Amino acid sequence: MKNIHEYKYEELLERAFTKLAGRRGSEEVFEVPKASVLVIGNKTIIQNFRVIAQSLNRDEELLKRYFMKELNVPGSTNEAGQLELRGKFNAAAINQLLERFIQKYVKCSTCGSFHTKLTKKGKVFILKCDACGAETSFQAF
Ligand SMILES: [Zn+2]
Repeated sequence: MKNIHEYKYEELLERAFTKLAGRRGSEEVFEVPKASVLVIGNKTIIQNFRVIAQSLNRDEELLKRYFMKELNVPGSTNEAGQLELRGKFNAAAINQLLERFIQKYVKCSTCGSFHTKLTKKGKVFILKCDACGAETSFQAF
């Protein structure tokens, strides 16, 4: 009995290592970015907008459209890499939207990796995971 247990344990270990080796970057800790939000007059500015887009590996244009769509206001990016949105929104609301974006358009729903790519084909987005290869598609905006 003991031998069988040992064998199984080793087999399990080996399988675990094989899995790990196949998952590029799975050991990195992904730090979900937080938006730093400033309200000036009737404008809401996401100061670290460019940094957020870069850390998520998403197009600034796409992330901008997402916020404009969700908040239903016009917005524009400036040279400093900030996003200016018309209207007053507090940091909690902006970060909640950002969190939702990450859950839907960045995080792989199969393995939980953040190493993914988002491409647009016609009217659908395809989210492809670099870690496990899973593909998810949903309606584009
Ligand atoms: Zn995955």
